[in-house]
Amino acid sequence: MNAGAAAGGSRLAAARRVVIKVGSALLVEKSTGSVNRDWLEALADDVAAMRARGQEVVLVSSGAIALGRRELGLAKRKPKLEEKQAAAAVGQIRLAHAWKEVLERRGFAVAQVLLTLGDTEERRRYLNARNTLTTLLRLGAIPVINENDTVATAEIRYGDNDRLGARVAQMVSADCLVLLSDVDGLYTADPTRDETAQFIPEVPRITPEIEAMAGGSASDVGSGGMATKVLAAKIAVAAGCHMCIAAGREAHPLRRIGSGARCTWFVAGASPVTVRKQWIAGMLKPSGELVVDVGAARALRDGSSLLPAGVTEVRGRFDRGDAVVVLDAAGVEIARGLAAYSSTDAERIRGRRSSELEALLGFRGRDEMIHRDDLVLV
Ligand code: GLU
Repeated sequence: MNAGAAAGGSRLAAARRVVIKVGSALLVEKSTGSVNRDWLEALADDVAAMRARGQEVVLVSSGAIALGRRELGLAKRKPKLEEKQAAAAVGQIRLAHAWKEVLERRGFAVAQVLLTLGDTEERRRYLNARNTLTTLLRLGAIPVINENDTVATAEIRYGDNDRLGARVAQMVSADCLVLLSDVDGLYTADPTRDETAQFIPEVPRITPEIEAMAGGSASDVGSGGMATKVLAAKIAVAAGCHMCIAAGREAHPLRRIGSGARCTWFVAGASPVTVRKQWIAGMLKPSGELVVDVGAARALRDGSSLLPAGVTEVRGRFDRGDAVVVLDAAGVEIARGLAAYSSTDAERIRGRRSSELEALLGFRGRDEMIHRDDLVLV
């Protein structure tokens, strides 16, 4: 193992929250069109080992369409869009069942989450999906995510789970995204066509040259080639999440990455929380203001979240997730953050204890008005 590979392996080991994307070509046996059981069992062992080390794991799994095709007699020819959607409906049940079987046996609750493009691109739905995913993680479940192919049509589709995986990594503030694939990483050219192609173990910055290198390399079963993987890397790295492309075909691919197996790392310069905070600090147009009392101002400076009890006044109109300015009693800006409540709800719960919120609002929301991960002191 060389020094670069060792650094890569420790990047995975050091991650707190990891998103693992599993491609169809690995999960579905090409000859039979059914789940590659032995391989999946070994991967589930790897996931269990990560959880035992205290890491949180989110799986983004392809395979619905590939698994449904044979069942519907569509294995031999290229299916039309509506046939793919039908195949996904049949295959997704099998896919979810396979994950449930292997992970439940290892003591984990498995949660199926099907997303469409709108769930990551529209703000309100994004926040909703993010809340659900982080709640699942807090409760110890392993989310298994796929695109909701049955209702996603060409115009509103990711189409590949590489970018979906990156969006999910961004959504849950993961610090590491692993794309398990049938290729072991990025080369200077397509290695199946060009024998002089050189392997690239680490990409510190995604330059136009790197994007050009990703031109080719398509696999048979999955739909994401190297180009979509580099697009995924751009999303992940911008969100402060390291990304790795690794060969997944052999048993125990995650364990192998951990011990320095060859793969390509796209390295993020900052952590997800730092990126988020930079973004919050740089927001040009906060939508509202929260005035807080002396105790809350002190608590914020000590690194706490802002609780409704400390808010004395709500100004402006804002939605849940919008950026707001926090002012002390003298009207001096002390922080900026993303409100966990709309201005209407914030007005209802200001000055109140967290235990009273449910009765005041009619639903159980977050305990904090602004969580400390969503807050930047100025
Ligand atoms: N969502 C598709 C499926 O589950 C796969 C997309 C991809 O291969 O990236 O069949």
